[in-house]
Amino acid sequence: MSRANISDNALKVLYRLRKDGYEAYLVGGGVRDLLLGRAPKDFDIATDAHPEDIRAIFRNCRLIGRRFRLAHVHFGREIIEVATFRAAQDERGEAGVDADTGLILRDNAYGTIEEDALRRDFTVNALYYDIADFSVIDFTGGVEDLKKGVLRLLGDPETLFREDPVRMLRAVRFAAKLGFGIDAPVESLMKEAGYLLEAVPPARLFDEALKLFMSGHGIQSYEKLRHYDLFRHLFPETDSCLSREEHEFPLTFVFNGLKNTDARVAEDKPVTPAFLFGVLLWEPVRLRAERARGVGVAPIPAIQEAGADVIRSQISQIALPKRYTLPMREIWSLQPRFEQRGGKRPLRLMQHPRFRAAYDFLVLRAASGEADPELAEWWTAFQEADEGARVEFARPPGRRRRRRRKSKTAAEG
Ligand code: ATP
Ligand code: MG
Repeated sequence: MSRANISDNALKVLYRLRKDGYEAYLVGGGVRDLLLGRAPKDFDIATDAHPEDIRAIFRNCRLIGRRFRLAHVHFGREIIEVATFRAAQDERGEAGVDADTGLILRDNAYGTIEEDALRRDFTVNALYYDIADFSVIDFTGGVEDLKKGVLRLLGDPETLFREDPVRMLRAVRFAAKLGFGIDAPVESLMKEAGYLLEAVPPARLFDEALKLFMSGHGIQSYEKLRHYDLFRHLFPETDSCLSREEHEFPLTFVFNGLKNTDARVAEDKPVTPAFLFGVLLWEPVRLRAERARGVGVAPIPAIQEAGADVIRSQISQIALPKRYTLPMREIWSLQPRFEQRGGKRPLRLMQHPRFRAAYDFLVLRAASGEADPELAEWWTAFQEADEGARVEFARPPGRRRRRRRKSKTAAEG
């Protein structure tokens, strides 16, 4: 494993901790991804220094987390996460686990490096890289599992999932990202234990959802979540729409949206959670709006009310921050406005700050067979046309057709 692939800032932290007499290793996803020849997303460091010691050493350091006290060392936009070696809670006899649910509440009993390895989730995440002699320390057979491409849990799966149900989502995420396999017994357990996710704070599920869907392997994550019946516990309304699946529309819409996002990530283009969650929740919004229209509500208020309702029920599962739900609702509410093509309305719609995202959304709907492809094509042509031609576009369809026919006759004559 070459040091050249390790971030300079991570190296700085490692060297500094060692210089001050502490043990310090690179651990977790950084080591795992480097051994697989992939670029790590971030670098985690494990040390025997306690959080207060770490803070005393680095000026640019902040301590975070309650359940899990960590040091974040900031270098501009890069954050190096430094965690103190921990032992499993029960070995220390501390009441860190909720008596009823088995959920971990506190996880701050410090331990040795070996104890630290054993309380991690998967063997491939429990490898330590020692910069002193460039060696990889492996207490759990993680190197072997990396070679075989398997995710093996460190301990009894049922206990581990009960302690922290997010580990099921992590299993899905790593399987999706790395193409690794999961043991059959663990797979069948996951299919049964999704309900445990209901006990996880919605804010944590939001973070996890971003990692699942915005890291370039959204399609794989989605298909696995559906396969293990976990998707239902993250997006209940969307899931029930998918199971009803009228025509072929809902499935291809979410699928195409995720495919788009994955492609953009692969090209290093920006992706926004507002658009993505807008896609994931559109089908419930659309159905609710359709119902409202059936009892006489106008198109735009129907979408607006449906959007508000869907968000209200969704945030009890996944805490979507306002900075994303506001643009999301705008993207939805602009959809019926694309149908109004007369007069100055199209020009005005183009001025809307959310026009571009809403137009991309329309194109996706059309590609999935839910909106009229002619409508999406019209808007594409409208944007590509120069200003004079746009005025022509914006004439009511009847008048435009008459004029065209006339000029055709003129040309023929
Ligand atoms: P990536 O950063 O690529 O998403 P990662 O494996 O580094 O993957 P992090 O969330 O950064 O994941 O966590 C760093 C390490 O901390 C993990 O590799 C794992 O060893 C340990 N860890 C994280 N979350 C848990 C958990 N819920 N249970 C047990 N160990 C965990
Ligand atoms: Mg990491």
